[in-house]
Amino acid sequence: MSLKHQIIIIGGGNAGISVASRLLLQNNLLDIAIVEPSDKHYYQPAWTLAGSGVFDISKTMRNEADVMPENAKWIKGKVSGFDPEHNAITLEDGTRLHYDFLVVAAGIQLNWDEIKGLNETLGKNNVCSNYSYDYAPYTFECIQNFKGGKAIFHNPHTPVKCGGAPHKIMYMAADYFRKKGVLDKANIQYWSGGTRLFAVPKYEKTLLKVCERAHINLHFMVKLVEVDGPNKKARFVGIGEQNKDQSYEVAFDMLHVTPPQSAPDFIRNSPLANSTGWVDVDKYSLQHVRYANIFSLGDAAGLPTSKTGAAIRKQAPVLVENLIAVMNGQPATAQYNGYTSCPLLTGYGKLVLAEFDYENKPQETFPFDQSKERWSMYILKRHILPWLYWAKILPGKA
Ligand SMILES: Cc1cc2nc3c(=O)[nH]c(=O)nc-3n(C[C@H](O)[C@H](O)[C@H](O)COP(=O)(O)OP(=O)(O)OC[C@H]3O[C@@H](n4cnc5c(N)ncnc54)[C@H](O)[C@@H]3O)c2cc1C
Repeated sequence: MSLKHQIIIIGGGNAGISVASRLLLQNNLLDIAIVEPSDKHYYQPAWTLAGSGVFDISKTMRNEADVMPENAKWIKGKVSGFDPEHNAITLEDGTRLHYDFLVVAAGIQLNWDEIKGLNETLGKNNVCSNYSYDYAPYTFECIQNFKGGKAIFHNPHTPVKCGGAPHKIMYMAADYFRKKGVLDKANIQYWSGGTRLFAVPKYEKTLLKVCERAHINLHFMVKLVEVDGPNKKARFVGIGEQNKDQSYEVAFDMLHVTPPQSAPDFIRNSPLANSTGWVDVDKYSLQHVRYANIFSLGDAAGLPTSKTGAAIRKQAPVLVENLIAVMNGQPATAQYNGYTSCPLLTGYGKLVLAEFDYENKPQETFPFDQSKERWSMYILKRHILPWLYWAKILPGKA
């Protein structure tokens, strides 16, 4: 195995594969290696649909080998350390690899262990999470089995991938309860570590109406610290100066948990990290602020925008343009404006397509008001985007 490559990409997920494909479309002679430990590749945006019972979870997974670009070399391994002064990375098995240019696309880390008792009860006792391929289908079981009582939907106090996912499943559950005639017996509650429902007022307005029509109670600035599955109890504590001494024990009949998340440990403990652990890149050029031959995108990158696949679709062409410029001795002038999108499912057949930039200013694609719930946008999410992902985004064509 060659221990030196012109470009090494860490992570063969949404971001890593899109960038590799785009680079190879520009020049298929580039020597690109992708370091990726997993045999499987996941289309995670459909996990909310799987948890709502309208998407077959097995269709969200493909073999990693099948999404690898033909001319990229797959190094099956896990990166454990960086040595940017010597243009080298280390794998868990001790292998040291050298690069001329490095792209870090290793995603986000799910810290399930931070919530006491969660690992023991996840997937049973009506405790579910769409943040896992294995457990997303159990969410729909919990929704179907719910016959009334308290349904709790949790959003952690940390950054997460897809800021809408912790609450879109709540709107789907509420709509399901309505259809089955159990909404009147449901006490739906949202417990969040954030300060508000959604950062962009234009879309938040619609979501607040959705909450109102299902009588959803909203609780902010709280952190889930413990789940007692067998006794169906969750313990939250307050966060922030005003709430920090508060503790709440909440009984539940079903609980949807979103795990606390962070930059992967091997990044946050490395010289590449910023003060909060993410890869320290310029938010416009996606080039590292200290190492000019390192770039990052996707969930692992320190970009002050919502972490989504939609954001990656706009980041990848910018990164590729800048990387090629730098390889040719030119400055990195292409700019990413923070574009991100969240297809907010608000019910079966209803969706608000939020699209916005670093300033939380709407950046809408369609010539109509996207803050309205629409069937057409639901069809986009349910049928068109999954196809686009496998057929166009991963091959670097969209
Ligand atoms: C429930 C849910 C709903 C979502 N809904 C939406 C949505 O509606 N719209 C949307 O746009 N986005 C959505 N997302 C977010 C979207 O899936 C992510 O933002 C996107 O997958 C991030 O891509 P990435 O390449 O950065 O990370 P990933 O796709 O997670 O890939 C990271 C890769 O890095 C690899 N890796 C990790 N550690 C190492 C290591 N040490 N060495 C080498 N490789 C490593 C991993 O194995 C993985 O293959 C959702 C996510 C979830 C979980």
